[in-house]
Amino acid sequence: MDYSVYKDDVKQREDITVGEQRAYIKYLNSHKRKHSMNRMANSRDTETGRVYKAERAWLKNKWVQKRNLQFKNLKQAQQRCNSITRTRTYKKVDKKGGHQVTLREKANYHGRGCHGWAYTYEITLCPTNGFNLYTLLHELAHAAGEMHHGREFRNRLLKLVSAFMGPDAAKELKKEFKNQKLKLGNHPKPYTFERWSGAREKMAAMRAKL
Ligand SMILES: [Zn+2]
Repeated sequence: MDYSVYKDDVKQREDITVGEQRAYIKYLNSHKRKHSMNRMANSRDTETGRVYKAERAWLKNKWVQKRNLQFKNLKQAQQRCNSITRTRTYKKVDKKGGHQVTLREKANYHGRGCHGWAYTYEITLCPTNGFNLYTLLHELAHAAGEMHHGREFRNRLLKLVSAFMGPDAAKELKKEFKNQKLKLGNHPKPYTFERWSGAREKMAAMRAKL
């Protein structure tokens, strides 16, 4: 969601006061804080547990398990990763418009249940739990620019699952997200200055009546 269009628009206008501009920009900022889930805007990743729960429920389906191809080794995983990051789908999903990602193998496995983790250019996969297509897609959705597990991460992930595991698999995962009361779909758009200003005046009028 790009808020700069809204901000630039209101900054250029001479028919409104600086005070109104500031109040509107303040509204835009709080709208952004409220609806986005990225590293800068919100340091808490509160939806992780529910995302994991949904994934586990989804992976209980035998037919989903069949689509979740296992990798024999890191080389095979890297080949699959390269073939995915080169697709149009990934280029669209990725904030950088498609970039290469290097895979690493997690060393010293101690039996703890972490499948993998991601940075923008590097993903580490656990050879015991994480050498599979779904873990790779989950981590690629992070590498695409969403470090948390919020709405925008889930949207990216569903697009990847749809393209590489099938639309029915994505639909089923979406259902599990909904079961966990996790929001999906586009980031809501803020009001334009006119709409915001109108709503504000209405509120003020209502308050005056009381
Ligand atoms: Zn994750």
